[in-house]
Amino acid sequence: MEKTLILIKPNAIQRGLTGDIITRFERKGLRFAGIKMLFMDDELVAEHYSHLKDRPFFPYLKASMQASPLIACCLEGAEAVETVRLMVGATNSRKALPGTIRGDFSMSGEQNVVHASDSVENALVEINRFFKPEELFDYQSAVTCFEYGGEETLKFK
Ligand code: UDP
Ligand code: MG
Repeated sequence: MEKTLILIKPNAIQRGLTGDIITRFERKGLRFAGIKMLFMDDELVAEHYSHLKDRPFFPYLKASMQASPLIACCLEGAEAVETVRLMVGATNSRKALPGTIRGDFSMSGEQNVVHASDSVENALVEINRFFKPEELFDYQSAVTCFEYGGEETLKFK
């Protein structure tokens, strides 16, 4: 099944939202393949947000990602990249729909609680950026047959 990366950003850690965020993905039926706490050093921020390095808000974004350690999670499920992006909501939390994580937990475009990979290709790159192979676990969920239909199990295995 497809894997994606989320980061529970320092602002969420500071605000004590980690449990609520993890619960949302768990309740949805996404499998946790990996989870770890780390500090994003300068190199990691520059690499992860290289597409934004020339934007005026980059110094603020960098500081926000280095305000404390954060939590990286690798989540797995059918069409996990798209599903997780839908659950996270629009970048600007004020425009994110109610029911999404950003829509429910944030008022900010910068301090927007979580990062989520935006494409299958980027997810592969980002998972490798944050996890070593031995930090990812390939175990079977005991309830997969109740989470997915028979046809889906064949299609997305
Ligand atoms: N960001 C910001 N101002 C902006 C756009 C983005 O502060 O106008 C920050 C915000 O924290 C966002 C991150 O930069 O989550 C990465 O931006 P991207 O466009 O990749 O949005 P995302 O994929 O996180 O929705
Ligand atoms: Mg992005």
